[in-house]
Amino acid sequence: MSNLSCPCGSVLYSQCCQPLHIGKTKAQSAEQLMRSRYSAFAKYEIDYILKTTALGQQQALDVKAIADWSKANQWLKLEIVKAQEKLDKNHAQVEFKAHYVDQNSHTQQVEIHHEISHFVRHENEWYFLDPTTDQQITMKQPCICGSGKKFKQCCAQFL
Ligand SMILES: [Zn+2]
Ligand SMILES: [Zn+2]
Repeated sequence: MSNLSCPCGSVLYSQCCQPLHIGKTKAQSAEQLMRSRYSAFAKYEIDYILKTTALGQQQALDVKAIADWSKANQWLKLEIVKAQEKLDKNHAQVEFKAHYVDQNSHTQQVEIHHEISHFVRHENEWYFLDPTTDQQITMKQPCICGSGKKFKQCCAQFL
């Protein structure tokens, strides 16, 4: 893979995930956001990881852990297994496999991170719903995505 290619698998980074990373364009689908977040891990674009996480979760993110995880691994390949863009009006699900090598491991074996991620659209932008952040929120509070609905009736179903 050359330096010009996009980590998510396409030929040119400058025509794929880079415009999203620099804020020139927005992801048009959950799958595109997923790809650009993977590429952000590969390119150490930590800010992008933060700002594409659900608005109400950004404060709770462990930035250091994210940065360490980004840097510790050599990101080899992204495989989208299945994208379901319409779980309901504003939620989507993307199943993927990220292939990487933990550069701190002695074996240097390729590992596969297999995950089913959920995404929410808010004011025409897609955000990642992070299942690992501490939800300091009760079911009756307004949702973390900014929809104004109760958490219980919105994103809680997908976390
Ligand atoms: Zn890309
Ligand atoms: Zn929500």
